Amino acid sequence: MRASIEVADIFRTAGPAYRAAHAGHLSLAELKLMSAIEHCRTAALGGHVEACEACGQWRIAYNSCRNRHCPKCQGAAARTWLAARKAELLPVGYFHVVFTLPAEVAVIAFQNKAAVYDLLFKAASETMLTIAADPKHLGARIGITAVLHTWGSAMTHHPHVHMIVPGGGISPDGSRWISSRPAFLLPVRVLGKLFRRLFLTRLVALHDAGRLSFFGSMAHLTDRRAFLRHLAPVRKKRWVIYAKAPFAGPEAVLAYLSRYTHRVAISNSRLIRFDESGVTFRYKDYRHEGADRQQLMTLATDEFIRRFLLHVLPKGFHRIRH
Ligand SMILES: [Zn+2]
Ligand SMILES: [Zn+2]
Repeated sequence: MRASIEVADIFRTAGPAYRAAHAGHLSLAELKLMSAIEHCRTAALGGHVEACEACGQWRIAYNSCRNRHCPKCQGAAARTWLAARKAELLPVGYFHVVFTLPAEVAVIAFQNKAAVYDLLFKAASETMLTIAADPKHLGARIGITAVLHTWGSAMTHHPHVHMIVPGGGISPDGSRWISSRPAFLLPVRVLGKLFRRLFLTRLVALHDAGRLSFFGSMAHLTDRRAFLRHLAPVRKKRWVIYAKAPFAGPEAVLAYLSRYTHRVAISNSRLIRFDESGVTFRYKDYRHEGADRQQLMTLATDEFIRRFLLHVLPKGFHRIRH
């Protein structure tokens, strides 16, 4: 069996060189995350001695960093969250819906994380609520749990929102439950169109209000005409919404959901090798079908750390919303 590698090993070994190489270009949040991962469950964070009163055997338990981007701290956070959600589940089927931003918009989001990730959440949930309330479709008020992911399979920037939605909702007068059809919640093409319209209208409004900023190769987007030109292709493109039929039961929904809610850009279990050539990890290549999807990728260690840090969220930003 191979020795297991953790993101923490990579940061502890290569973090100091990374900080030196990128001095002056790292944000406070990025520096904090690096330090948290490097020190999580080591003597640096302190700890306590756990001893058995009967046999006297003891061990040292070091404190964890609790940073929400730390791969080691996610297991415990997921269990706590899961226990709290159990009480809220309804005895109905749940659908899984995913809203993704096109690449042209994702680059804008990257330089304006708080404003555009927030817009992604709001436009996606308003789209769902509006189409669900329409009597032509479900005609009911639905509940949504949504979680933001900012990464694709190879840790690149790929912002999307996962939603768990019950297969039905409350009637407009509040008197009864309206069920969706068993394998169909809402038409994805209709959702895609409304989502595109809501999102783009508000994105332009944010720009007009001076709430977006651009730097580096994107500095020219500060100009309104250049900004509108940049968005022109995505106005015509189809915005793909993915919707999957219900889970087997409430337990399955929760298990599934907790895998999504408390994920970070990469889990320790996907790491294969860390040596002079860099970091090798498993990822899914969606251009392939079936078993061929699982591929290995090796990134230079500097690039691995850079990609990991792409996904630091602004302080106080809620990545799970109800
Ligand atoms: Zn930690
Ligand atoms: Zn995701």
